[in-house]
Parts: sequence; structure tokens; C-alpha cells
Amino acid sequence: MSLITEITAPDGHKVTLNTGLFINNEFVAGSSTIDTINPATGKVLASVQAAEAKEVDLAVEAAHKAFYGGWKTSNPRERARLMLKLADLVERDGEDLAHLETLDNGKPLSNSRRGDIPGVANQLRYFAGFCDKLHGKVIETEGKLSYTVHEPIGVCGGIIPWNGPMLMLAWKIAPAIATSNTIVIKTSELTPLSALKIAALIKEAGFPPGVINIITGYGPKAGEALSRHMKVSKIAFTGSLATGRAIMKAAAETNLKKVTLELGGKSPNIIFDDVDNLDEVVFWSRLGIYANAGQVCCAGSRIYVQEGIYDKFVEKFKALALSGKVGNPFEEDTFQGPQISEGQFNRIMNYIDIGKKEGATCYLGGNKVGDAGYFIEPTIFTDVKPDMRIMKEEIFGPVVAISKFKDVDDVVAQANDTTYGLAAAVHTSNITRAITISNALEAGSIWVNCYNIITENSPFGGYKQSGIGRENGEYALANYTQIKAIKINVGNPI
Ligand code: NAD
Repeated sequence: MSLITEITAPDGHKVTLNTGLFINNEFVAGSSTIDTINPATGKVLASVQAAEAKEVDLAVEAAHKAFYGGWKTSNPRERARLMLKLADLVERDGEDLAHLETLDNGKPLSNSRRGDIPGVANQLRYFAGFCDKLHGKVIETEGKLSYTVHEPIGVCGGIIPWNGPMLMLAWKIAPAIATSNTIVIKTSELTPLSALKIAALIKEAGFPPGVINIITGYGPKAGEALSRHMKVSKIAFTGSLATGRAIMKAAAETNLKKVTLELGGKSPNIIFDDVDNLDEVVFWSRLGIYANAGQVCCAGSRIYVQEGIYDKFVEKFKALALSGKVGNPFEEDTFQGPQISEGQFNRIMNYIDIGKKEGATCYLGGNKVGDAGYFIEPTIFTDVKPDMRIMKEEIFGPVVAISKFKDVDDVVAQANDTTYGLAAAVHTSNITRAITISNALEAGSIWVNCYNIITENSPFGGYKQSGIGRENGEYALANYTQIKAIKINVGNPI
């Protein structure tokens, strides 16, 4: 049975792909298959192999063998060379990868090209630089030479979502590999294609078999098997709160594997009436909620505007939202593509319904766009109250709630009134106010006079129920290393 398939994008670009499970540097068949759907059309793009417990075990065994077979003590320069080579290959095949990402996920091709491809390459190059910079400390201790070494954890599992398939793959692989761990990645069942293409590049780059394994499969089958596996020493997860809880529970009930979680959010975006340039604020705010069709964990889904400029802001925000083309992600001028799946489409439409029933005003949008695929109009709710579900729960779609505030104390209290804490933004020309509010907001990332600035060198993660641990930046290394303290008796008699 051939696992090779060819996929043709609407612009005629063709990509050849192996649809097998990537285990031990080979593409192999799984226990079952998954049809992956093009969210812009609702039609099947490709059928890929799906892992169940048996294949998860094979992948973990391969990673275990690779770890103890030499990768654990691999030469840091060699790890860096392989990571840099992979970054080059990702750029070389950037057009194939960007097309697959847009076909599978629905994000505009311009975003895949200019955001995701450089994002993956930057991630690999940044962490490649750490391979030979993993230092311990010497601790002054009477009569003993006491020092620490930072060692890899072992086999890591990465469970990733569908909203940034390639980027999330790189976020998990790069720090794990730089620190000498081996890894098994489970892609989302909704978006396996770009990861499978990268799997072929991993082999071409020359990584030894078993160091990086990539499997596709459903959460309750493959994801759960990975979370419960006794030879997996760490899981890094990005996705929903419910699944994050399930993974922690699985870890607790098995080998107490270390867990880092990057979960959802309901991030506040605060706008003061002293801003220098309202058009720029509107630009950032629109990017904050409607980028990736609202399917961003740190989406600025609660906008708070100071009373003095509320009407003006809402008017300009509506005009900009209306100007963005919603539709075919392969057209250069498209701003917003489809939602990822029929399930997510229905979930978002249900929230729009809930908002209306709760008494909020649907000031813009709220409808399906077109007949095919899963497109939703950019939607604005006004007249929202803090206890409404659309103000409390993550919608993960192009739906924003805009409300007014009076002063600093008022808005800080409203902004922090959430169980989440992934990100927040403040727009003001007053530096003292910007710093005061940045200090007061309970969130892992704060943006001042901008939004969605996420870079490989700066930590990203959540306060409260938005997660555990930080990805990106030097801070991420702590997730993938464990510290050993060594004390040597330097000739001291008993
Ligand atoms: P999800 O959490 O179910 O899926 C994310 C990943 O977890 C997928 O790879 C999935 O297969 C896997 N998974 C599912 N159940 C699992 C289990 N029991 N054990 C191990 N792995 C499992 O998310 P979803 O259902 O695709 O989306 C639902 C909601 O999650 C969204 O509406 C959104 O609110 C949130 N979400 C957040 C992010 C984020 O970036 N933080 C990403 C995707 C979804």
C-alpha cells in the first residue's frame, strides 16, 4: 500500500506527501486512518494514517532507544548543526509547507508564508544556539566541590493543536532537541499535513532515527496513550483546558511525568482615551481578535475602551472589521479564512446565539459567510455585562465583546475578573500608566500599544488557568532539563 499522496492547491501548486506515521525515521501504516478536511470547502483533502496505543508504543520505544543509544550525550555542536539544517530545509520547502498549512488549517496563504514559515525557522535557529550553552553552577561549599549539571529529561511527548500546526510543532521540538531529549509529537487530528512534510525534512536533515517521531491520531486514543505511557517523562501540551486537565490526571495516575500546559484565554485589551493615534489602536485591536479567524489562545476577546473615546473607537473598529475580506485563503487580499471545522463553526455560532439571548447587542456580524466551508463574519458584541458567558468563556472565533470603563482601578478590576491569564494589552500615551497597569494585570504576556507580538526569544505562557510553565525564550529550557547536584569531597578527613 502506498502512503504517498499528491495534493493540489487551488492556485495549482502541487505537494507530494507521505501520509504515514513517522516513527524511527520511517513512514509506517497506522491502526486506522483519518480524513483531513479542507475547512474552506468542507471536502476531504487527504487520508492520513492514525496511531492508536500500539503505534504510540512503537514511537515511544523508538524515542527511548534513541535517547539511551547516544542522543542523551550527543555532541552539542552536532545537535545545533542538525537544527540549523532543518531550519534551512523548512525555508527551502516553504512554499510546499505554506500551501499545506493553508489547505489544512484555512489561514490565509499570506499568513502561512510570512508568519508561520519564518516562525518555524526562527524557533529552530534560536534554540540551536542553546545547544552548547546549557550551564550548571558551582556552589561554594566547605570542603566539597559542589556543582550542578542540567541534564535532559528523556522521552518527551508533545501534544499540539490545530490553530498553528507547524508553529506549535516547532515550539515543542526545538527546546526539547536542543537540550538532548528525544520526542514523540502527536499532531491534531484536524491538521496533520504540514507536520508530515516536516517529518520528511527531519530525515533529510540527518537526525538519527527515533530522535523526533511524529504521529497523527485522535486525542482519546493516541493523545491519551502518550499521556499515560510509562516511558514518557514529560508532556508539553497546547490546547483546551479540559484536555489539559485530562493530561495532568493521566500523568498523576501513571509515572508522574512532568507536564507543561499552554491553554486558553479571555484576554483583555484596554484602550485609554489619551492614545496618540486611534487608527493604530484599531489596527492592533483588530489583529488581536480577528487574526487566524479568532482561533488564537491569546486573542484579545474583551476590549475595554475608556468612556471618552468609546463611540469613536467602536465606529472605527467596525469600519476596519468590515473592510477585511473573509473568504478564499488563497487570495492575496483575504484577511480572514474559515474556522477549522464544522464542530468549531457550530460552537462559535452557538456562542453568538448565547450572547444575543443573554441580552448583549450583536453590533456587527454574527452570520455564516457563503455556502461552502466554515466562514463566520467578524462579530462585535456591545452592551455586555461581566457575568455574561460571552464575557467569561473562551469562544475561539471571530467574536469580540466591547465595553466601557471609567478609570484605572475600574478597568484593572474588570480585566482581572477572569479565570484565565494568558495575555493582556494596554494602549495609552502615558508611560507611568502603562507601567502601572502592566504590573497590575494578571497575565503572562502584556503588550503596550501593540498586540500579538510573540517571538521565539520571549517567554509565553499563562497565569491562573491559562497554563503551567513558559515556552519560548531561555525560560523554556527549564521545561526540558532536570538539575543534578554533585558534591565531591575534596580530601576532607572524616
Ligand atoms: P483539544 O484540547 O481537544 O485538542 C488539542 C490536542 O489535544 C489535539 O491534538 C487533540 O487530539 C488532543 N487531545 C484531545 N483529547 C485528548 C486526551 N484526552 N488526551 C490527550 N490528548 C488529547 O482542543 P479542541 O477540541 O480541538 O478545541 C476545543 C477548544 O480548545 C477550542 O475551542 C479552544 O477554546 C481551545 N483550544 C485552545 C488552543 C490554544 O492554543 N490554547 C488550541 C486549540 C484549541
